[in-house]
Amino acid sequence: MSTEIAKPEKKSVPGTVYLVGSGPGDPGLITVKALEKIREADAIIYDYLAGKEFLKEARPSAELVYVGKTGKNHAVEQIDINQILIKKAHEHKCVVRLKGGDPYVFGRGAEEAEELVNAGIPFEVVPGVTSAVAAPAYAGIPVTHREHASLVTFVTGHENPNKDQSSIDWENLARNKGSLVFLMGVKNLEIITSSLINNGMSPDTPAALVRWGTTPDQSSFLSCLQHIAEESLKRGFKAPAVLVVGSVASLKPKLDWYEKKPLFGKQVLITRSREQSVKMADRILGQGGKPLLFPTIQIKEPHDFSDLDRSISSASCYDWIIFTSVNGVDAFFRRFFSTGHDIRELAGPKFGAIGPVTAQAIRKHGIKVELLAAQFIQEGVLDALRQKDIVGKRFLIPRAEKARDILPEGISGMGGSVSVVTAYRTDLPDHADVKPVRESLANRDIDVITFTSSSTVTHFMELVGKEDAGSLLEGVVLASIGPVTSRTIREFGLEPTLEASEYTIDGLLDAIDHHFCNG
Ligand code: SAH
Repeated sequence: MSTEIAKPEKKSVPGTVYLVGSGPGDPGLITVKALEKIREADAIIYDYLAGKEFLKEARPSAELVYVGKTGKNHAVEQIDINQILIKKAHEHKCVVRLKGGDPYVFGRGAEEAEELVNAGIPFEVVPGVTSAVAAPAYAGIPVTHREHASLVTFVTGHENPNKDQSSIDWENLARNKGSLVFLMGVKNLEIITSSLINNGMSPDTPAALVRWGTTPDQSSFLSCLQHIAEESLKRGFKAPAVLVVGSVASLKPKLDWYEKKPLFGKQVLITRSREQSVKMADRILGQGGKPLLFPTIQIKEPHDFSDLDRSISSASCYDWIIFTSVNGVDAFFRRFFSTGHDIRELAGPKFGAIGPVTAQAIRKHGIKVELLAAQFIQEGVLDALRQKDIVGKRFLIPRAEKARDILPEGISGMGGSVSVVTAYRTDLPDHADVKPVRESLANRDIDVITFTSSSTVTHFMELVGKEDAGSLLEGVVLASIGPVTSRTIREFGLEPTLEASEYTIDGLLDAIDHHFCNG
């Protein structure tokens, strides 16, 4: 007689949980794999210290669950976080558990992994750059050094050393010849340092604290074991911070690099369109600054395409097509291709650009640029044209709806014939978050405002209110991309603090760096 073995009930296969480290704060320090998983995720369960800026990488349909905690304030208890992970794994294919730094360094990541194993849920770990190493590195402290420390110990500073059964061997730590890095130790600083001293560590041992390491909000200082707790209190130093104890900390004055960056800690307002702000923001971040996006313009389509369409259809009849902005190039070619035209129709005309970035945008379409201004303003294009024979030549200038007429008038004056067509409009943005910007200005939290065109100036004044501009902008560095923009700033009764010598975004950022390098 054969007994039939009962088949297990068929259950849907749970998804995989990825324990992902987002790095210590600098968005450049996330790993490629971590970003990939964030982009794939159906659900992201994230913490207080997890890089929230990465959430915008998630799919619009991804479910975002905040389970963060700060100090005593637990948004969600650990036991509940474990349950959420298990539940989400049953609902979705790809669940990301996003944590700051590395998920297994004091992140309770291992406990969560154990719970997943117990629940039969597959998981993977995507390690991250831990603050235990990165925060000291950004503060000029290498955690090991052949002449200073051949070992490094990561210690939780969360545990009260006075508790009866401390799992930390303080005597051993105090004798340790390597570097000690304490995480979560700000609150217990006095107890930590006195425990080390009472167990025989020299009170003169170099010690440093690094708060919000790797971010433009980083602050750090060097002291010694005996005095660091007192100094921290004096400075009002708060979490999150790492404490580094050991001779490596003495290298800080020599190896400091991040806090010496020209824009370190400076808040820089970017007023150009959102799409164009991203690259600029990256460069500001790279210089240690805090970019703040406040788009005052939005690039929009022309109200009426008929002029542009006509010029596109007859493009082959022109001798020259001149672009005075990247926006003009993008708008022209977008319309050109979307209306079914073919690049071979542009075999006839020569192309000219106001500056290198505009030229690059033209070259992207496989087109050679035969005229480039030396000064990146309309006058510069005219100067370049003076060396050519343009009498009787036909020019097309696809550009913004509102622009100066220096170039078309100059070309006409030199005997050329010009068609100016509106390829795009620079409008006020549909939504502008004015209140927080006004508040930041009033609180003197903004150090620099970048103006990258005349319309960013006029729109900024319109949004913030030109009546208050004088008082709100007092002491703020007004950074202008070039003479035309500077003139517009002056029309509002203000004086640009600096003007780029090369009228490009890079030129502007160089001028800002230079301003702060020279104090
Ligand atoms: N898994 C994280 C650590 C989590 S424990 C990691 O690998 O970095 C939280 C503690 O990490 C904080 O109390 C603080 O001590 C430290 N920490 C996290 N981010 C930090 C940062 N940007 N700067 C300094 N310390 C940080």
